[in-house]
Amino acid sequence: MFQLRLGDDVDDYCIKCKRLTNHSILSLVNSEPAKVRCRTCYNEGPYRKGEAPPSKKDLKKAELFKSVLGSIPGAQPEPEPEKKPAPRKKS
Ligand SMILES: [Zn+2]
Repeated sequence: MFQLRLGDDVDDYCIKCKRLTNHSILSLVNSEPAKVRCRTCYNEGPYRKGEAPPSKKDLKKAELFKSVLGSIPGAQPEPEPEKKPAPRKKS
């Protein structure tokens, strides 16, 4: 296991950038990042371990998705669309 130090870079979710970005560790608690700062927008916040905070909208969406899935027996969570370039043969 590697030791994190102040000023080290960690990947974490930035609520301003709304994505995973590089963060600098501002403070450590029990050798885990406690406070981090986004290196893209310099927004400071608690270390989220790379997880996005669930918004109310997302929770509602997830609930809806679950209920829809629950009503369909054997439904796939995410059907993968097949994308294959159709090979054309010219004779
Ligand atoms: Zn950011």
